[in-house]
Amino acid sequence: MALRRTDTILGGTAAPAPATGPYGVSATAVDDANLVLTAALVGFTAARLVTNQPVEFVYEDADDEPVNSAAVDLVRRALAGTRVLDLPDGAPDAVAVAPARPWEQAALITGAAGAARSQFATRNAVPTTAEAEQLRQIAASVTEPLGYQGYGAYTGLLDDPVRRAGSVTSTVRADVPVDGHGDRWAPPVYTYPGPDNDQDTQPWGLLLLPDGSPVPGIEGPHPHVPGVVGYTHGMVQMVYSAVARGPWCTPFEIAVGRRTTKLASCFPCTLFMYAAGFPPSAVHLGRGDSWAPWYPSDDTGHRHDVNDAAITMTNARWRLECHQQLTLGARVLGEHADRLVAPGRLDLLTGTLAASAADSPVAADLLLDALTVPGKVAQRVVSAFDGADQDRR
Ligand SMILES: [Zn+2]
Repeated sequence: MALRRTDTILGGTAAPAPATGPYGVSATAVDDANLVLTAALVGFTAARLVTNQPVEFVYEDADDEPVNSAAVDLVRRALAGTRVLDLPDGAPDAVAVAPARPWEQAALITGAAGAARSQFATRNAVPTTAEAEQLRQIAASVTEPLGYQGYGAYTGLLDDPVRRAGSVTSTVRADVPVDGHGDRWAPPVYTYPGPDNDQDTQPWGLLLLPDGSPVPGIEGPHPHVPGVVGYTHGMVQMVYSAVARGPWCTPFEIAVGRRTTKLASCFPCTLFMYAAGFPPSAVHLGRGDSWAPWYPSDDTGHRHDVNDAAITMTNARWRLECHQQLTLGARVLGEHADRLVAPGRLDLLTGTLAASAADSPVAADLLLDALTVPGKVAQRVVSAFDGADQDRR
């Protein structure tokens, strides 16, 4: 197993940094995670603006508005006057930040085929078959819950009007295969809260509830130590299903239970969904901690109920887009290196991307590595820029 057990995500020869990050990871690893996600967000936003597509990020609570507005403002300012690409004057002002649609029972997030140019509000759909609608109601039931309904519970739903069928699935936690899929990172030392809950007993990437216990959910294959676990969100599984079953299918996600009220896709799902051609009906800049795609069955020993070609090809497009958007974002950030908390880390990111083939797993793996350091995307963007910059707001 090729696992990078280094103090930092981006490598280099930085002096050892204090272990002030979550679970005792180094401050530099946190800087790296913030930088990678900021580059991804800037690259994603630039990719939308350069083709005049709408860009909007929604927040759930009024409490979340300031950090979301601050993050979006930093992205706008990074793109204003950029010489990396030719944006019309004022284009970055079109990046919107808005309150999320209010939660309601069985409300859906839609992966809208080919809708990248459409306004977000028009991307919402509903299942066309009674079968999918029935599954939607069962999955969303609060009185007779199907599966986990705690923090971050989303259930994927697929509508297949040709076979007149639906299917549902929850987030799956699984070991991340590294053989044949690049080199994943794990810190050399990490400590989870709670007794006997550390690197000797639990893999890296675990999501924990506030009381320190692992988030329950469907278990995938082979969680083991040492290793890295990832969480494949329901929407991602349904995008694979839609690709595998036919172009008439629509993937959805249901925000399940009363503790998950964001009617929007997380940022890592968003990147994946755009790459697959199913952009989401709303995007949030909250958490996508330890997000992971599926990997082909042959490489994991786990039989998915979609064919491997759909997984392999969808992942290939996503990997290419990770490389394209991280590269674009890093180039734009290069014009603002003096405003970054850790400008020297940007050189490492740029150098790593330049040295890797566009279809290699390197860029996608950097994004996945960054997501194993927990945090909200909006906060990471604010943290990636320097304090003086934040004081000016
Ligand atoms: Zn997601």
